[in-house]
Amino acid sequence: MSDTAPQAFATLPLKPELLSNLETLGYHTMTPIQQAALPPILAGEDVVGQAKTGSGKTAAFGLGLLNRLRVGRFCVQSLILCPTRELADQVANELRRLGRGIPNVKVLTLCGGTPLGPQAASLEHGAHILVGTPGRVQDHLSRKTLDLNTLELLVLDEADRMLEMGFQSELDYIVARTPAERQTLLFSATYPDEIQQVAESFMHQPRMVQAAATK
Ligand code: ADP
Ligand code: MG
Repeated sequence: MSDTAPQAFATLPLKPELLSNLETLGYHTMTPIQQAALPPILAGEDVVGQAKTGSGKTAAFGLGLLNRLRVGRFCVQSLILCPTRELADQVANELRRLGRGIPNVKVLTLCGGTPLGPQAASLEHGAHILVGTPGRVQDHLSRKTLDLNTLELLVLDEADRMLEMGFQSELDYIVARTPAERQTLLFSATYPDEIQQVAESFMHQPRMVQAAATK
C-alpha cells in the first residue's frame, strides 16, 4: 500500500548529525510507529504512541529528545521512566547509540539495585538525559539528590507495564515535580482505560498515534 510505504528519516527536520549517525547505524527508513509519532513529537506536541514490542518505539522518542537537546546547557533536560532496570539499561544504551553523532551527550540511569550514594554523586556531576525506574527516581527526588526544575521532556515508556506493576503513585509524585510546560510522551504496547486516565491527567491535548498490530 502506498500510504504505508516506508519513508526515509531524511524527510524529517532532524539535526544533520543525527541523520548521518542513523545512516551509520543502518537505520534508513522509519518503522510505522516512528513515521506516525516523529512529526508531532518534533513539532513539540504531547504524543501517546501505541505499538507492539519490537516496533522501534525507543528511537521514536529518542530522536525526539536528542533533536531538542542543547548539549551546551548541562542540566537534566529529559527523563525517561521505564518499568524495570533491564528496560532502562536497554533504553539508555539505545539513546547512547542514537546520540553518537552529537559529542558529549551524558545519559545516566537511575535504577534500584544500585547503592543510592554513588548514584547521588553521579547526579551531582550532572547529566542531560536520565533513564530510570519510578521507585528510584522518586527516592532521589524525596532525598533532594535530584530536582527536575530544568526538565523539558518527560517520557513514560511501557506505561501499561508501569501501571500493572503498581507504579501509579510514584508516577504521580514524579510528574508533580516537573515543570508544567514540559512536553510529555507516553508509549505503550496496549491501551487500557488506565492509560487513557494517565494520558488525561499528565498530558496536554495528546496526539494519539498507533501502528497497526499486523505488518
Ligand atoms: P520497542 O520499544 O517498540 O519494543 P525498540 O525500540 O526496542 O522496540 O526497537 C526494536 C529494534 O529495532 C531495536 O533493535 C532497534 O535498534 C531496531 N530499530 C528501531 N528502529 C529502527 C529503524 N528505523 N531501522 C532499523 N532498525 C530499527
Ligand atoms: Mg520499548
